Amino acid sequence: MTQSTRLDTPRFQQLLDQCVHCGLCLSACPTYNVFQTEMEGPRGRIQLMRAAAEGRVGVNGAFGEHIDHCLGCRACETACPSGVQYGLLLETTRAAMLDDRHASRQVRRFERFVRWLSLRQLIPHRNRLRLLARLLELYQATGLSTLARKLRLLPPPMRAMEALLPPLNTNYPDYSRPAPAIGERRGVVALLHGCVQDAFLSSVNAATVRVLQRNGYEVHFPPAQTCCGAAPLHIGETALAHELARRNLDAFGDHDYEAILNNAGGCGATLREYAHLLADDPLYGERAQRFVGKVRDINEFLADHLHTPPTHPVNARVTYVDSCHLRHGQGVARQPRQLLRAIPGVTLVELKQPDMCCGSAGVYNIMQPETANQVLAAKMADVAATQADVVVTTNTGCHMQLLYGAKQQGLNAEVIHLVELLDRAYQ
Ligand code: SF4
Ligand code: SF4
Repeated sequence: MTQSTRLDTPRFQQLLDQCVHCGLCLSACPTYNVFQTEMEGPRGRIQLMRAAAEGRVGVNGAFGEHIDHCLGCRACETACPSGVQYGLLLETTRAAMLDDRHASRQVRRFERFVRWLSLRQLIPHRNRLRLLARLLELYQATGLSTLARKLRLLPPPMRAMEALLPPLNTNYPDYSRPAPAIGERRGVVALLHGCVQDAFLSSVNAATVRVLQRNGYEVHFPPAQTCCGAAPLHIGETALAHELARRNLDAFGDHDYEAILNNAGGCGATLREYAHLLADDPLYGERAQRFVGKVRDINEFLADHLHTPPTHPVNARVTYVDSCHLRHGQGVARQPRQLLRAIPGVTLVELKQPDMCCGSAGVYNIMQPETANQVLAAKMADVAATQADVVVTTNTGCHMQLLYGAKQQGLNAEVIHLVELLDRAYQ
């Protein structure tokens, strides 16, 4: 057993030492609630990380299973009175686990191929993702998807992915030129259109742009932008996440945008991490700090810049499902509710546990479908109890997961992004 050089550092030790083992985070942890064991909660996982950092346990085997069960939702960070930065601990640990698997040749050729294909050849390339979405749209439209489901033709991981596909609409917005402000021009902002969001839920970006235009903003789409890096970061591919971060810093340059906006909680949390990710980079470290200073989630930005409040009533009973990476990762919980209350006709009904994860968590619902389904079942029961007509979300992964959950449970409710509801109130 070799001690990981990533974990055996003063910085990692410092992060571990912030935990005082009080256990106040346990009830906030979705996996602790499912498994009811110490090692499936934040405190136990931190103890395991400490043991690995001290070389007392290896970073794979049973250790890896407990870490892999973690959703990375960061609800434990919000609950922790001691300021433990669990997200950073988890990212570093997952990178150490991947190093170890490479060193002991446990990453099989097929897995290496899937990682290379999805993370390097697909996600960073908008046009390739759009082409894939067009093919899948055809697959849905011809009824092949129904047949594949009935006959269970796909292998389990692909079945999980296929089940999560939203109804596709590849009528993509035009990003080749800026979208002009409508009415008085109040500023210029840039939008990160995302990778999966752009290809698979394009109506969200279209609504985002229209709402910003209505509020007097000219919206720019820097053409060289790419995936934020969340997907590789969450599965330990830190070198690729750094590379994507640098590409985005080049793409957004040092233009004088009032804000760099995103509309997906997971992407926003990663963009805000760029300063930390590139802290030791002599060329990009300072630029990353300036960039992070301008990153805003769309809810956060609009809550402060709703110059033209919506006037068209949307008569609906609405519930809001917090994105973990927006609420726990970025501390944005008040603003989405403020925007919903600004829409005439909306009755906002809160969930009993709005801060609990839905089980999406990046690729967790594909890698760990059984646990993800248990977490989702609890979320859908909470949603159903609100008797809402509309379920509002603010993150791509949650959006797909809730669409899937609503379909599974036969819930008669629409699942949409908050800006889509806001957009309706402008029509
Ligand atoms: S990130 Fe979420 S699932 Fe993981 S330990 Fe923290 S609360 Fe539990
Ligand atoms: S992570 Fe925070 S809340 Fe949880 S046991 Fe450690 S100090 Fe307590």
